[in-house]
Amino acid sequence: MTDRKAELAENLERVEERISAACAAAGRKRDEVTLIVVTKTYPASDVRLLADLGVRHVAENRDQDAAPKAAACADLPLSWHFVGQLQTNKVRSVAGYAQVVQSVDRPKLVTALSAAAESQGRELGCLVQIALDAETGERGARGGAAPDLMAELADLVAGAPGLRIDGLMTVAPLAGPYAGREQAAFERMMELSSSLRAAHPAATMVSAGMSADLEQAVRAGATHVRVGTAVLGARPRLG
Ligand SMILES: *Cc1c(COP(=O)(O)O)cnc(C)c1O
Repeated sequence: MTDRKAELAENLERVEERISAACAAAGRKRDEVTLIVVTKTYPASDVRLLADLGVRHVAENRDQDAAPKAAACADLPLSWHFVGQLQTNKVRSVAGYAQVVQSVDRPKLVTALSAAAESQGRELGCLVQIALDAETGERGARGGAAPDLMAELADLVAGAPGLRIDGLMTVAPLAGPYAGREQAAFERMMELSSSLRAAHPAATMVSAGMSADLEQAVRAGATHVRVGTAVLGARPRLG
């Protein structure tokens, strides 16, 4: 094993222990939570090592970096999740490699994703990104739609050719009433998820929790955690 592979293996093991412990503490089964490794800013060679170590879900937040990486890793059995703020001019590219777009936060993006998925003959899973720092009718500082926009966006996705509504995503907010209250933020997400599932029963995904707060997310009921630095190390630049 190379040094890097050994390092990643050790980090993955530690994250796995954290997820297992959080599941046990919450009385949840380990297989109710899926680990998505956020590989942004790290090279395709790391993605390859992670796949070798059993990782099956990876996430990226910038199309410029993700597109060549996904192309270099096209032979690997990986699902690619797009988790960054997405401009409509990047949608065609993202629809070419992503299985799931977790950052759907406005109607224009739904229209663009639908057109891109259709023209490439692909079906894209979509999560509505919720901004818990946004007031009614707004978008959040780091993307995401205010909770009162969720139902309308989900209906739009569900009715759009080539798209599937899979659930919700959030990043614990740094501002607003939930700042520093990750547990409460994730519990609010679970309430929103019940209301979403009442209209769209198959939309069961709740993507919440990162390196610093995955325990709180698992405790609240998240189905997917997105972990970057705890697996790959501190990122060399902001990303
Ligand atoms: C970078 C990123 C993560 C991972 O964050 P870490 O703190 O490195 O675990 C998760 N979700 C999104 C949307 C991200 O951009």
